[in-house]
Amino acid sequence: MDYDYNKLAQLLFPEVTGTVEDLEQKYPERQLKEGARVTRFAPSPTGYLHIGGLFGALVDVLTAKATDGVAYLRVEDTDKKREIDDGVSAIINGFASFGIDFDEGVTGFNTEKGAYGPYTQSQRAEIYHIVAKELVQKGLAYPCFCTAEELSDIRAEQEKGDALIWGYFGKWAKCRNLSYEEIEENIKAGKPYVLRFRSNGQEDKRIFFDDIIRGKIEMPENIIDEVLLKSDGIPTYHFAHACDDHFMRTTHVIRGEEWISSVPKHIALFKACGFKVPKYAHTPQVMKIDEEDGTKRKLSKRKDPEAAVSYFVEEGFPKESLIEYLLTLLNSNFEDWRRANPTADAFSFPFNLKKMSPSGCLFDLVKLNDVSKNVISVMTAETVYNYITDWAEKFDEDFFKVFTQDPDRSKAMVNIDRESPKPRKDIAKWSEVKEYFSYLFDEYYEPDFQLPENISKEDAKAILTKYLEVYSADDDKDQWFSKIKDICEPLGFTPNVKEYKKTPELFKGHVGDVSTIIRLAVTSRKNTPDLCSIMKLLGQDKVNSRISAVINSL
Ligand code: GLU
Repeated sequence: MDYDYNKLAQLLFPEVTGTVEDLEQKYPERQLKEGARVTRFAPSPTGYLHIGGLFGALVDVLTAKATDGVAYLRVEDTDKKREIDDGVSAIINGFASFGIDFDEGVTGFNTEKGAYGPYTQSQRAEIYHIVAKELVQKGLAYPCFCTAEELSDIRAEQEKGDALIWGYFGKWAKCRNLSYEEIEENIKAGKPYVLRFRSNGQEDKRIFFDDIIRGKIEMPENIIDEVLLKSDGIPTYHFAHACDDHFMRTTHVIRGEEWISSVPKHIALFKACGFKVPKYAHTPQVMKIDEEDGTKRKLSKRKDPEAAVSYFVEEGFPKESLIEYLLTLLNSNFEDWRRANPTADAFSFPFNLKKMSPSGCLFDLVKLNDVSKNVISVMTAETVYNYITDWAEKFDEDFFKVFTQDPDRSKAMVNIDRESPKPRKDIAKWSEVKEYFSYLFDEYYEPDFQLPENISKEDAKAILTKYLEVYSADDDKDQWFSKIKDICEPLGFTPNVKEYKKTPELFKGHVGDVSTIIRLAVTSRKNTPDLCSIMKLLGQDKVNSRISAVINSL
């Protein structure tokens, strides 16, 4: 190439007048304290937030928070094929639902905050073109006029031979050596072209980099003349990544492990542009055990409803539960920290990238349910009530009306066995509440008295008849229980469980069996939270009529 690169730069980018130097001044180094990390989450606007995205964003936000840094949200919309009309709001809402709060970047459809914007790639053409122009000036980028057909011919040739590396490079890179005149002629003739990186990498050289999660990684140096700008002037992911992460002053690029293989390309680009290479951390994928064949596989948008963050919103998992669970997957020391700081905000956990395991982490809905039961069990009745009403308003209108008819009663309901040193751990998500407490609502209660095997019809009838005579909704818990104990003996049961265990042959059963019959008659369930409280909420009339109805049916 014996032509003047400046002349070529001018030919390709006549409209570009700014310089990289201008950009350096416009987007200066951030004034943050020593060690502060600047991270970003960079989704494509597909209108879909995968649980792996929430996982990744959590890592970004916690990393920034733990170091007094900055986490921002950048929208990567250079792949028009993947895009939908407003693919941003659903993602932002998904984050908002789980309390993921970015310090800067895109905040909604066409809105953003922060001094390093625009944070949407399609609005950054000017920046990419300035950098591209300078690469051309430095002889590090050139236009390539190869047609799709020519490229697939190259590919076919490479596949036939025994080349270890496929792509546009070395002898295959025809356009690398075009003269200025040839280029000018092509452009005048209106031939479409892409802008390619002029790689000076060598096939036998290796590069090394430190991945914070995976340690030292060694890979062959990049030798490919990667596309920087597509024929419509839109950058490729690789080029946009270098420009954006540099001018947004990202210190730590945290992204999915599928990008590891691109790092040599990225390092070459950062260096060619004269940018400092950021630190990299490639996070593991979120996996699950396949229900059918028991293998470990990636959570799939197509097969797994729980791959979508919206699933957890619709099911009514409180944000605290999902975050708490994800944190147990992120750092193995989280649970120790939680034991030492039982009431601390999860976002204050001193997250450490280095403590992340590089191997795929298993997302287990059963464990999430357990974590969620714990989390919900320590919430106040007021909080639970508010969460349930918010959820029901969006996802179960009918239940919303029923549940909010008498807020005090509903709060008392969710307060049963709560706000005590050993709260009941029963509810994992708000969508379970209607069914869980259905016996407390006439609208949902379906009486279904099933006689336990060890109790005869006659005994059940006798228990319920006797109990109806003594029951009063005004009794406190002790009186309530004494009355149940009192009816045991005359009916051939014992109030003393230990005594029953010693000499079962002397009794028809014990106080537990008697209360089970009462519980079944009142709620149609074998297990419920504190029955005395439930009966108080139902009131004397309803308890009487439910018990009478069962007596009559027996
Ligand atoms: N837009 C890329 C993606 O959706 C982001 C990769 C990155 O974080 O650098 O996969």
